[in-house]
Amino acid sequence: SVDRLPEIQDSRLRLPVLAEEQVIMEAVRENSFVVLCGETGSGKTTQVPQFLYEAGYASGTGIIGVTEPRRVAAVSMSHRVAKEMNLSTRVVSYQIRYEGNVTSDTKIKFMTDGVLLKEIQKDFLLQRYSVIIIDEAHERSVYTDILIGLLSRIVPLRNKKGLPMKLIVMSATLRVEDFTENRKLFPTPPPVIKVEARQFPVSVHFNKRTPLEDYTGEVFHKTCKIHRMLPPGGILVFLTGQAEVHSVCRRLRRAFPFRRGNTATGEGEEAATDSSDEMKKFKKAKHKRTVSLPRIDLDNYSALPVDEGDEDRLAGIDDEGSDLELGDDTADTEEKADPSLPLYVLPLYSLLAPEQQAKVFRPPPHGARLCVVATNVAETSLTIPGIKYVVDCGRVKKRFYDRVTGISSFKVSWTSQASANQRAGRSGRTEPGHCYRLYSSAVFGDFSLFSEAEITRRPVEDLVLQMKDLNIDKVVNFPFPTTPSAEALVAAEQLLVSLGALEEPPRTGRVKEMERARLSCPISPLGRAMASFPVSPRYAKMLALGKQQDCLPYVIAVVAAMTVREIFEDLDRPAGSEDESSKLAQRRARLAQMRRLWAGQGASLLLGDLMVLLGAVGACEFAGCTLKFCEENGLRYKAMLEIRRLRGQLTNAVNSVCPEVGVFVDCKMAPPTESQVVCLRQIVLAGLGDHLARRVQQEELLDPKWRNGYKTPLLDEPVYIHPSSALFKTLPQFVVYQEILETTKMYMRGVSAVEPE
Ligand code: ADP
Ligand code: MG
Repeated sequence: SVDRLPEIQDSRLRLPVLAEEQVIMEAVRENSFVVLCGETGSGKTTQVPQFLYEAGYASGTGIIGVTEPRRVAAVSMSHRVAKEMNLSTRVVSYQIRYEGNVTSDTKIKFMTDGVLLKEIQKDFLLQRYSVIIIDEAHERSVYTDILIGLLSRIVPLRNKKGLPMKLIVMSATLRVEDFTENRKLFPTPPPVIKVEARQFPVSVHFNKRTPLEDYTGEVFHKTCKIHRMLPPGGILVFLTGQAEVHSVCRRLRRAFPFRRGNTATGEGEEAATDSSDEMKKFKKAKHKRTVSLPRIDLDNYSALPVDEGDEDRLAGIDDEGSDLELGDDTADTEEKADPSLPLYVLPLYSLLAPEQQAKVFRPPPHGARLCVVATNVAETSLTIPGIKYVVDCGRVKKRFYDRVTGISSFKVSWTSQASANQRAGRSGRTEPGHCYRLYSSAVFGDFSLFSEAEITRRPVEDLVLQMKDLNIDKVVNFPFPTTPSAEALVAAEQLLVSLGALEEPPRTGRVKEMERARLSCPISPLGRAMASFPVSPRYAKMLALGKQQDCLPYVIAVVAAMTVREIFEDLDRPAGSEDESSKLAQRRARLAQMRRLWAGQGASLLLGDLMVLLGAVGACEFAGCTLKFCEENGLRYKAMLEIRRLRGQLTNAVNSVCPEVGVFVDCKMAPPTESQVVCLRQIVLAGLGDHLARRVQQEELLDPKWRNGYKTPLLDEPVYIHPSSALFKTLPQFVVYQEILETTKMYMRGVSAVEPE
């Protein structure tokens, strides 16, 4: 009943998962829960929904739901599957936090895991779905874990009600014991189906030395060498974040300029790589520019990992020594621009616009080599065709939380062995590949074997509130694939009780009982209202209180701005040239001036950084939220757009909780009056009350490090107001802060002043 195009049909037949269609569908027929493991690129995400569709799982009232931990994957996979099935996006659709194209005709729905969790709050039995696929379960994202726990209960309930439902958990690795061997989760272990992928051998080349400082420079040079010296085939580069991705893209584009006019076809729409042509070009280039290039023995492929040293010599592009042999560049200069070797460089990261992301799936323009510079998204979520070389910096950027204090910091750290192997595997999909690890094998040996489940690494108050809203009072008893620490659960319940989202536990004399009671407080009516807002509990509390004094529009704007990261452009970056440095200085001065303006006068000054946020949002909206306004005033355009969408969404959410307030988004919002500022400060204090800091008194200054420092209840060390804060000069007695982020010092962010009682 599906009418696929012949070329699609051909490429489908080459996917390993297709050979297992019968096995998979039989397992699904006979079991409520099925686990499917298969290497990235084997066809799980694109094909399994189609199998289910063709087997009739969407022909009744129920539809097929697929969850992804990343927005990128939800959007691009829905497009891909629609195209493969020759169906409109009205039928194969997606839904992510702010947007989607779901219609009443939708039969296959891709969504982020957070979206499905919200749907469970509306309809616990998920009656719209006949089957749910939890994709990328190996990533162990918090929502994935919770969804699997919830579905382990929902599916039997549905079966009991005579509305059968299936759960398929898909993973790119075989490490699924946390799901299959967890008796609390699944009393009888679900069947595990393995898809054998056609993985070509990948030679892994370790660096002799591990660059600790400038690894992006190392990545750049390695990529240049691969491009200059090795046979055709796409290059996939793994870095840790968007800024690094852009800087390496820029440098590569400068080194190997690619001009559209020079290539036979346009944007690579139907361009196929003519490998004989490429090979000629490669040989010519090689002949021209290399002195004594060690030969690469193409028959010598080994399983990973390889002993360092031998492989280095084979490939000849691994260690610093080979630089001398090549003699045409040194490690600390930029490469000379070489237009004779065009490189088609594309960035890839989560926040990139979908049209830009889609480019990586198309063949590169004729005569150019594809080079994708990516963050972790390319590790398992997206498979890029034609990759033969992987350059792995070995690092990943993650947010780290202190379990006790909640203080967080973004840190670049070593990835796990499992992730590094996933990355390497990306090079062996269509032919034997090479993976260049920019660290030594000894360092690899010190990597942890697997990445930890996210739920064990972050505060869980938002999850606990959502679970309580689902009437799961005893969160400790929930069938988590991996249970969060008891400390984290207790801290979450305490915070929620103090915010009034949960009822106070009954007071009893005995400590043990109190502990237990604390972990099973039921949700309050306020908590229910808070749970319906798509922001974390502290901010939800502010929204719930916003009705007073017509403050809601301001509270919504401030909360939206507080929950979007980094609304100000980062102007602290080092400048490349003198010219750039003076421009940066100008922009810094401009932003500082605007911040002062936004901070307001008189009473509003006490609202501090939150008033700056409010002023920035107000001014930006007043100007129509244009790119021009943002660029002129040091605001990040993308962040401002996100704030705008979030304001709309929060406004809707508030209206549906209390329709009588009839709040709307006003793009010509006047600044708050003095009494509204007072009210706003109370609301902020109610939300951030546990984030209180007191300025250190003169007489306490035993140690100079406490100068201008603040004392918080949980920390022995001082925290500070950042120089960019509106309150840096004022240094009020008491402040509340949004969060503490550790950079060079422990800095409070989002600070506003509190009057002592
Ligand atoms: P898995 O989920 O097992 O990692 P996928 O189903 O995502 O595998 O991918 C299967 C194949 O489909 C891959 O070879 C990939 O290159 C191809 N593919 C996926 N998305 C697209 C797309 N948007 N355009 C072209 N090919 C795609
Ligand atoms: Mg997939």
